[in-house]
Amino acid sequence: MNAWLKKALYRIEADYQRSSDTHLVRVGFPQAGKVSLYLKDESTHPTGSLKRRLARSLFLYGLCNGDIRDGTTIVESSSGNTAVSEAYFAQLLGLPFIAVVPAGTSREKVDKIGFYGGTCHFVAGSQIYAEAERLASELNGHYMDQFTNAERATDWRGNNNIAESIFQQMKYEPSPVPSWVVVSAGTGGTSSTIGRFIRYKSYATRLCVADPSNSVFFDHYLTGDKSLRTDQSSNIEGIGRPRVEPSFNCALVDKMIKVPDAAAFATLRFLEGIIGRRCGGSTGTNVYAALQVIAELAESGKPSSIVSMICDGGERYLDTYYNDAWLAEQGFNLQPYTDQLTAFYERGVWSELSGEVRICEK
Ligand SMILES: *Cc1c(COP(=O)(O)O)cnc(C)c1O
Repeated sequence: MNAWLKKALYRIEADYQRSSDTHLVRVGFPQAGKVSLYLKDESTHPTGSLKRRLARSLFLYGLCNGDIRDGTTIVESSSGNTAVSEAYFAQLLGLPFIAVVPAGTSREKVDKIGFYGGTCHFVAGSQIYAEAERLASELNGHYMDQFTNAERATDWRGNNNIAESIFQQMKYEPSPVPSWVVVSAGTGGTSSTIGRFIRYKSYATRLCVADPSNSVFFDHYLTGDKSLRTDQSSNIEGIGRPRVEPSFNCALVDKMIKVPDAAAFATLRFLEGIIGRRCGGSTGTNVYAALQVIAELAESGKPSSIVSMICDGGERYLDTYYNDAWLAEQGFNLQPYTDQLTAFYERGVWSELSGEVRICEK
């Protein structure tokens, strides 16, 4: 076996041995009947998001396939978080790294990519795929292509993947097998891994995927149409895509909820008051959908649990989601959702807001 490859795999394994798992945080909802909410806190990875897991898997996949060798330039299309984590691993292996990112990507993430020795190449959101492919071929490098490879590079049966970790951490809880796991989708890799693991272990758990405003995943779920496209880019960094990504497997999904962006932002503010922490926009989308599910479950009066996720922290979005002027400029009105969330927290009443939230269950 090639000595460089051996050393590269060894370095990634050593990095893994130095790492620890992320926490599963229990969130109190006093009026939610007997339903408990847990959040898998993926913001505590050293590179700040759940993409740490994906980056590690994509590097191992590329190395073992022979696509990544000594000196290979790594190229990726990303809305930011994947690029931050991949830049980390490229630096660990001494490889050049180029991220092709949408022009509006947060300053924080661009700085982090640079911090880990990567460079950013800015294009319009819809062009990241073609441009990354072009650059990789021009430089004789390797296009990681997370949107295609996320679901296949991840060891879905185990190897301490996110699903195995969640079910392990739930073991001593009053309802150890969650009724639902609620996540959102960017590549769709996380939902595929969790969906497959649930089936593999024959758990009674169901999988719900939340989708933000400017994204085609929900309509794809509804219609099965893989050719859907939108020109608008998602306001929620990390999730919501303009095309149906190959990595998103909707056959594994039991329910989807279309969450308006304003509801996600209201949820972020609200969550800060309960857990004392700021989270990113996708977490707001996940948690709003999780509360919708909890409200339905609470009616049955049976004890149960729901697991959702903190995908990244809020410090990356102080200029946007946590900035009142930005919200007003973009025309987001949080009030109806803030009222809804407050009523649920204080009195256990979840009022349906007509027409805004769409739900599809299969
Ligand atoms: C990538 C990402 C997600 C979605 O995860 P996928 O496995 O790619 O579907 C959610 N939130 C954030 C912040 C992300 O970066």
